[in-house]
Amino acid sequence: MSVRPEIPRKNLTELGLADLQALFAEWGEPKFRAKQVYQWVFQKGARSIDGMTNLPKALRQRLSDEGYSVGRVRVGRVAESIDSTRKLAIKLDDGAAVETVLIPMGDGKFSQCLSSQVGCALDCQFCYTGTLGLSRHLTPGEIVDQVLVARDHLPEGARVTHLVYMGMGEPLHNFDGVIGSLERICDPEGLGYSHRKVTVSTSGLVPQIEKLGQTVPVNLALSLNASNDEVRDRIMPVNKRWPIATLMKALRAYPLPPRRKMTVEYVLLGGVNDSDADARRLAELVRGMPVRINLIPWNPFQG
Ligand code: SF4
Repeated sequence: MSVRPEIPRKNLTELGLADLQALFAEWGEPKFRAKQVYQWVFQKGARSIDGMTNLPKALRQRLSDEGYSVGRVRVGRVAESIDSTRKLAIKLDDGAAVETVLIPMGDGKFSQCLSSQVGCALDCQFCYTGTLGLSRHLTPGEIVDQVLVARDHLPEGARVTHLVYMGMGEPLHNFDGVIGSLERICDPEGLGYSHRKVTVSTSGLVPQIEKLGQTVPVNLALSLNASNDEVRDRIMPVNKRWPIATLMKALRAYPLPPRRKMTVEYVLLGGVNDSDADARRLAELVRGMPVRINLIPWNPFQG
């Protein structure tokens, strides 16, 4: 089975503005109707075509008659931890499940962690998702939908101010899906997030890091987790393909906009990667780079 899902073209969360303009031109509708529908879906979070009240009734009817819908992923179980972090189980149309996490940042602001794949092919040894293998990539609409549905699960007056592609899956393995979702998320006519507020995390797919930098000016986070190749080869098999020196070279070349920092994530695995020598090697690896290092205590259900 292909890991590339078929894009449901009659689900409005999968359509970009240009797609809607092409559709409405074919139907003889004025061009501005495309923008109205696009804004209903991505800015106002409309749940149904009927709810798009500034569209003529005949157009709403035609959209419904032709099988269009505002496809939404469904939220299953919501788990809230003592610090108000909320983990939302997300059910997809084909029955697959991923999750998205809302992390409080204070002052009613939340950072949201997005999934990009069902499972993951990268097989990092400290990660539960890695044990599942990859079922499939998420579509752009399924990624954006995580942001839209999470709004309903925020406390009164709260909002998601930052987005991080760091949930289930390796985002850069689903490059097209992630870029498609970023087009809606960072479009002022769409969800309107500044690129500064969006971070894509990777385990180190070097060609895609370079491609990401040439495509969209989002922040980059690297899941490093080891200070030498011997350990990283063992805990992150991707390192055998792109070892640390190659990876750090790609990071140094990443076209980070001025005054921004990359994040280097480092899961602390007792007795494996957390010695004083590791700390010294890590400092050496990032010397002179605009980075923030995020040390993460390991928990057995990570990923
Ligand atoms: S840590 Fe990320 S890249 Fe590695 S297996 Fe888990 S989800 Fe995949």
